[in-house]
Amino acid sequence: MKPFNFCPACAARLEDGEQGSKSCPSCGRSWYRNSAPAVGAGIVNDGKALITRRGVEPEKGRFDIPGGFLSGGEDPIEGLKRELREELGLEIEVAVDDCVSIVAHTYGPEGEFVLALGFLASWVGGEPRAADDVAGFTWVDLDELDRLDFAWEHDRQVVRKALMRAKEERDAGS
Ligand SMILES: [Zn+2]
Repeated sequence: MKPFNFCPACAARLEDGEQGSKSCPSCGRSWYRNSAPAVGAGIVNDGKALITRRGVEPEKGRFDIPGGFLSGGEDPIEGLKRELREELGLEIEVAVDDCVSIVAHTYGPEGEFVLALGFLASWVGGEPRAADDVAGFTWVDLDELDRLDFAWEHDRQVVRKALMRAKEERDAGS
């Protein structure tokens, strides 16, 4: 969230408050710059992970993982399922225990605070097709992972964890 200069409730000019907050001298409210939560999925099929090419700024044209920002009050698991449906037309299975990455970072030219949650998810329905803010998608293996131009390093690590877990499961099953 960007810093506020004026009170979103009453439009008075804000003053600096405690712990990085702004406070309103007119209506008395405090406004905090909390991180916006974002969710992403590492999905593996046949030994390859699904990654997406960003169709919008910031970092347009670079790779990330499917997912996006949660809506206000939205359950993270439901939000991740919604994003996969919107961006790729995929149905996934995912649970809270599948969360493998929690990273605070800044996003975009104004340095908005984001808390990125990465999950390992399973593809259970639909055929992928790029839509919404996704320009395209591709399937990658461990060998090519380090050569790819990811917008955010933590997304590369979620993909790595997804590929490593799939490899362990294959090795255990063979
Ligand atoms: Zn106010």
